[in-house]
Amino acid sequence: MCPTSAAPTVIDPSPAALRADGSPRSFSVRTLGCQMNVHDSERLSGSLEAAGYTPAGPDEQADVVVINTCAVRENAANKLYGNLGQLAKVKREHADFQIAVGGCLAQKDQGAIVEQAPWVDVVFGTHNMGALPTLLERARHNAEAQVEILESLEVFPSTLPTKRDSASSGWVSISVGCNNTCTFCIVPALRGTEKDRRPGDILAEVQALVDDGAIEVTLLGQNVNTYGVEFGDRQAFGKLLRAMGEIRGLERVRFTSPHPAAFTDDVITAMAETPNVMPSLHMPLQSGSDAILKAMRRSYRSRRFLGILDRVREQIPHAAITTDIIVGFPGETEEDFQETMRVVEASRFSSAFTFQYSIRPGTPAATMDDQVPKAVVQERFERLTALQERMSLAENEALIGSLQEILVAAGEGRKNDATQRLSGRSEDNRLVHFALPEGVARPRPGDVVTVRITAAAPHFLLADDLAAVRVRRTQAGDAWDRRQAESCGAPAAGSPAPGAVNLGLPTLRVR
Ligand code: SF4
Repeated sequence: MCPTSAAPTVIDPSPAALRADGSPRSFSVRTLGCQMNVHDSERLSGSLEAAGYTPAGPDEQADVVVINTCAVRENAANKLYGNLGQLAKVKREHADFQIAVGGCLAQKDQGAIVEQAPWVDVVFGTHNMGALPTLLERARHNAEAQVEILESLEVFPSTLPTKRDSASSGWVSISVGCNNTCTFCIVPALRGTEKDRRPGDILAEVQALVDDGAIEVTLLGQNVNTYGVEFGDRQAFGKLLRAMGEIRGLERVRFTSPHPAAFTDDVITAMAETPNVMPSLHMPLQSGSDAILKAMRRSYRSRRFLGILDRVREQIPHAAITTDIIVGFPGETEEDFQETMRVVEASRFSSAFTFQYSIRPGTPAATMDDQVPKAVVQERFERLTALQERMSLAENEALIGSLQEILVAAGEGRKNDATQRLSGRSEDNRLVHFALPEGVARPRPGDVVTVRITAAAPHFLLADDLAAVRVRRTQAGDAWDRRQAESCGAPAAGSPAPGAVNLGLPTLRVR
């Protein structure tokens, strides 16, 4: 089948989804890694539900545990084997219990996982997520581990059933894979070359999400700016953003990640001219040193990077720009590091994900000479994070006194119970904790609240001006209400059937 095919993937009910007494077996998915994995986990959950499994409750021991692994983040292997070690005990005590391992690390290590942890039942890769129910069934029937890894995509993952975590916000893949060859990155080896989805399929998925109540989408790709390379349209990403502006009810559009080498001015203009495209941009710097960027095989240089930020701020002055930075790449000298500090200072990032370089087996950088000693990396990392904290605080303090629209989120503020505040994200994606005046109806997750910023910290803003609070109820809040009613077994009027699974394109109701 063509990888970009839009035809929904049908998952048949699986006999392995039932216990001996005929009740559905329960599952839980543990996600390690990035947003791609979080979204992939939604597809794994959707596929299992379509096959007849049911999600385990928060305190329930699931009959099937799926671990969606990551090969990019540090300690991913330790985390996987730590999880598997704990699950070995469950396996000994429950004969019917099954463990499946998928994702990037599974794609990379393949059969080595069952060699190291022979109690694992299924290993599957990044290209065959939809095969999970079949593999679980086969493992149960044959009473032996099933390892199935494909070297290329069988079906575009977005055609799989998807169980969305959030009623108000959804991830939408526009492409998978990457044509770049950054020397620190394992993604091209594990996810393959870039495969683009057709614009019509993407728009249909976004429309389906909005019809289900979502008001925010994040377009996902390893390198969103090269979207269109497969079908020969270099301006396809900017056009896609503009098309998002035509979708009624869609209030917030975000995307991740762009690549500085491919980021063109038509995208900046499309962002500026499309009101529902949010003023936030994640632009991975990785290093401020041109020599290190060359060694990383990243084809832009610091001057181009800073030029992009200038042009973004010219057209979208209030844009919040975030980044990723790696400290201690092989061969990085103190001068190189100083270049990173210089570019970070000039960039005025609102926040940065900073990483200490560590060897990822299978990447070109892993075998480079001049690996930087751990103590040096640590010391540079601390200097960089101190600088970024200072910058983040200054950027956040500049917003004190401003009015911000907050999309209320569930579970974003860990101290909310103690502080009596609610939390959510501003349009530029900053985390805001806000107080609600007495007597005002509590907004639901998905509702939008206008607040005035009263204080700032490096990683969040506070809004305690009670007089400024305005609550706007949204269709996303209504969708949240419906989900709550469904989870209590009492569907709200007009709500989809329990177990509704969004199929990426149309909505499939699983009955
Ligand atoms: S652009 Fe570079 S870092 Fe990003 S996925 Fe592709 S190879 Fe990896």
